Amino acid sequence: MSVRRAVYPGSFDPAHYGHIDIATRAARVFDEVFVAVYANPAKAKSVLFSVEERVAMLSAVLGHMPNVQIAPYYGLTVDFVRQVEAMAIIRGLRVFSDFELEFRMALANRRLAPEIEVVTFIADERHLHLSSSTVREIASLGGDVSTMVPPVVSAALVAKFKERHQNGVESDYMISLHD
Ligand code: ADP
Repeated sequence: MSVRRAVYPGSFDPAHYGHIDIATRAARVFDEVFVAVYANPAKAKSVLFSVEERVAMLSAVLGHMPNVQIAPYYGLTVDFVRQVEAMAIIRGLRVFSDFELEFRMALANRRLAPEIEVVTFIADERHLHLSSSTVREIASLGGDVSTMVPPVVSAALVAKFKERHQNGVESDYMISLHD
């Protein structure tokens, strides 16, 4: 039987416990899961962490799972899915407000690649409120995010905001992100 491989794409800027839960559950359902970190050069300035930093944090957190791989990708998600010969795109669904966007993206992806299924996992209620933008905002104001992200991400946030504050960088990266 062929390998059932799925791609879980996202910005993961940064990864939090909601993302980790979805990746872990997907890895129980599929033989192999690629956690794919979207690297959009046009958005490079609007993200907090570089794609290399995001990949490194996810690798530190999910690297112990033998059937999970972390990779950056550029361009269309369906092109990456085809490139790695996966059969499905994984998405997490939090609250009702996610639904419209996810529904639209799933239909667009179906139009582009009818052979690829979009599989949606309902968020765990413990993580329903979690989003990367909330995490970034709390961390930028010096708040404690230790219940929302793993220690490696928490430490990276502290270091990143220390560096930004020292360099006098404004937190303008939040504005253009939708999560
Ligand atoms: P994007 O940039 O595509 O919105 P994100 O990095 O914000 O990507 O999220 C990647 C995926 O994880 C999306 O499907 C998103 O709905 C899902 N997700 C985000 N936060 C949570 C959460 N708290 N629980 C479950 N799934 C989540």
